[in-house]
Amino acid sequence: MFEKILIANRGEIALRIQRACRELGIKTVVVHSQADTEAKYVKLADESVCIGPPASRDSYLNIPAIISAAEVTDAEAIHPGYGFLSENADFAERVERSGFVFIGPRPDSIRLMGDKVSAKDAMKKAGVPVVPGSDGALPEDPKEILRIVRAIGYPVIIKAAGGGGGRGMRVVHTEAALLNAVSMTRSEAQAAFNNPSVYAERFLENPRHIEIQVLADEYKNAVYLGERDCSMQRRHQKIIEEGPAPGISRRMLDRIGARCAEACKKIGYRGAGTFEFLFENDEFYFIEMNTRVQVEHPVTELITGIDIVQEQILIAAGEKLRFRQRDVVLKGHAIECRINAEDPYKFTPSPGRITAWHPPGGPGIRVDSHAYTNYFVPPNYDSMIAKVLAYGDTRDQAIKRMRIALSEMAVDGIQTNLALHRELLADARFVTGGTSIHYLEQKLAQRKG
Ligand code: ADP
Repeated sequence: MFEKILIANRGEIALRIQRACRELGIKTVVVHSQADTEAKYVKLADESVCIGPPASRDSYLNIPAIISAAEVTDAEAIHPGYGFLSENADFAERVERSGFVFIGPRPDSIRLMGDKVSAKDAMKKAGVPVVPGSDGALPEDPKEILRIVRAIGYPVIIKAAGGGGGRGMRVVHTEAALLNAVSMTRSEAQAAFNNPSVYAERFLENPRHIEIQVLADEYKNAVYLGERDCSMQRRHQKIIEEGPAPGISRRMLDRIGARCAEACKKIGYRGAGTFEFLFENDEFYFIEMNTRVQVEHPVTELITGIDIVQEQILIAAGEKLRFRQRDVVLKGHAIECRINAEDPYKFTPSPGRITAWHPPGGPGIRVDSHAYTNYFVPPNYDSMIAKVLAYGDTRDQAIKRMRIALSEMAVDGIQTNLALHRELLADARFVTGGTSIHYLEQKLAQRKG
């Protein structure tokens, strides 16, 4: 087992990884930017190294600075968290070439899944259902493009092969708008992702977002840890996640879960990963795979009792998975609310000093957060400051506990989206369960109107 791990991230996930390391008896090095010097989790780490100024490109994305920090502290492995360099195959390669262990999949798996065209193709071959669409990237010839898309049927969504974070996508409803949309998406994709390749797939009108969590080791053992429903989204950003997914039969979920675990074995995947699907009319359609730990991983931890971050570390250390599929038992229900430092109505970021921080507690509540009274939320990064989770024997109990938690929680000095969460936990359609990915935006549009 490793003696010392370097955590190449910040905020709640840096603290989360630190906690996993401490439980495993592993020392931690936290790298941080000048904006995060005072953060308590930085002081809690065994060692910390400042890797640059506040701007992410100069610090959390600064590969040479991170590798040097690992060298001077004698860390053996690097955990990238989520975001930043976590899905950067070149980083993973540099880490391994410098003699450290990258806590994540092999660089070639990251590369395969990082290109959505190759990812879709690999999944199709591995027997995972994908959204019907162009076989691979769209060609240059306009006539060919028209022919391919006519065969798919309108509406379609044109997506950049290198896209991510909800960018590089365009919905096309009519043939007249197609060629222009393709060329616009192409040039945006070239500018943003340095890859002009685009593809087309059927645009699903009212899907839910359902994702399968997997764990796989070096030795081609793979399990799925159930699913999460992440349909409550604004601008493709998840706000609430829960598991199990309400209203979908266990038989169907087990079938898709088994396919994902099987696919991991086929592509030689290692580590934690998430298969994201759109779910419509009782069908699953693969859209992409995330080759890292996800923000919403605690939902799965609560219903399986498995510590995903610890498992990532054990797998990276070369250990065999400690359980088989039949040992994975889903119990109860968990809901996660992402608490962001932002205006709950206009959604503009609200960085600044937290003058009072009162997190909730009590039965079934888990709060993952690096914040505290007097913590300064820097303006340079993602606005998420806490994840509040509620667990219950049933979905109904989890909802009740989450309502109590949200009513207890108080944050002063900055604005947060707590008010939006309180509203959503009281929303009749949310309480029924099974809303589509468009529900939140439709609700917000009505609120304005
Ligand atoms: P990203 O990597 O940028 O997150 P995804 O491929 O995961 O891109 O898609 C992001 C979101 O875009 C999905 O969660 C969904 O809301 C929407 N979307 C993507 N593909 C489709 C599709 N074929 N039909 C309908 N909506 C889609």
